Amino acid sequence: MQISVLLALLVSTASSHVINPHAPQARAPAPALAPAPQYRPITASQAGPAIPASTGYYTESFGGGAYMVTDGSYQALFLVSTEGVIVVDCPPTIGMKLIYAIGNVTDQPITHLVYSHSHADHIGGAVLLVNRTQDYGKDNENGKGGRREEIVTIAHAETARLLSQVADPNRPTPQKTFRDTYTLRSGNQTLELSYKGQNHLDGNIFIFAPQQKVLMLVDVVYPGWTPFSRLGQVMNVPGFIAAHDQILDEYNFEHFVGGHLDRSGVRADVEIQREYVRDLYDNCAETIRLSATDDPVLGAANVLGPVAALNPENPWAAFDVYLKVTSEYCANLTNAKWIDRLAGSDVFQVENAETMIESLRIDYGVLGPFANT
Ligand SMILES: [Zn+2]
Repeated sequence: MQISVLLALLVSTASSHVINPHAPQARAPAPALAPAPQYRPITASQAGPAIPASTGYYTESFGGGAYMVTDGSYQALFLVSTEGVIVVDCPPTIGMKLIYAIGNVTDQPITHLVYSHSHADHIGGAVLLVNRTQDYGKDNENGKGGRREEIVTIAHAETARLLSQVADPNRPTPQKTFRDTYTLRSGNQTLELSYKGQNHLDGNIFIFAPQQKVLMLVDVVYPGWTPFSRLGQVMNVPGFIAAHDQILDEYNFEHFVGGHLDRSGVRADVEIQREYVRDLYDNCAETIRLSATDDPVLGAANVLGPVAALNPENPWAAFDVYLKVTSEYCANLTNAKWIDRLAGSDVFQVENAETMIESLRIDYGVLGPFANT
């Protein structure tokens, strides 16, 4: 969502709540607001296409009837076939704008909706597509425009399972599910869906349009940018790291859709992020190694001793300090190389480093000062 839209929404939401001065006020004390942080500006070469303020979205054509729609923060994909339109994801921030974008290039009805994964920020607008009445214009059998057509929803079986746990009406349970691969053919278009195991989340699938050489994998690679906080809220770091090789080794793609930000990517963007992730891994491993020495900055005895003394019988306190100190150190190491290469490196680097350090400890067994004694 664009900042201006978000601010307008916040203002309108706040003003819509009329406060009764006679009602008991049972609010928690307001937290002190920190000064607004100033991060490194996004350079002209890092900026993607401008999102027209008049529409709030931008449509990128990949040729062959394949299009990406973005609002600057989120992305969806659609393919126009001779039988109708296949849509992949409907982020709620794009919402109805996705329908307008499709309507600007075709009057074909939407026939299929693919969920990349279960997260609400990418498919929370599904209800807008699934429940709407599609106008078939002159083909409408009752001549009045508008009749309901079933849109087939497709997702991985794990996505269906995760959605069944929460019963969110905005994310209807998918009608078709698969476990390994699924080839979706509609008219003259083909989408190859593939599941390679847990990465960002269970059920997060690779979505490939072979004719247009477009590959979509959401919340893993962020072309031109540092990954979102905690490596994109990753569920499985080893699976996330492996996904970079899977993208580059298993797909002959020319366009990459990562689900976020304002532009699509190319192979070089994935190669650059793979290099970043390897650097982050190496830097975090080196940080953990140093923390097991008597290093004056990172050595566990130096860092944890004073915290433990002040917080006896509270092991959380020392662990919290350990993670904060090592994450900060690793983030600084990483930013020394990446702050000019990837946009937003100074925003989420500490969170990304903490995620990698925790994965190194508990997934990879790089335990540092907490190893076998
Ligand atoms: Zn997600």
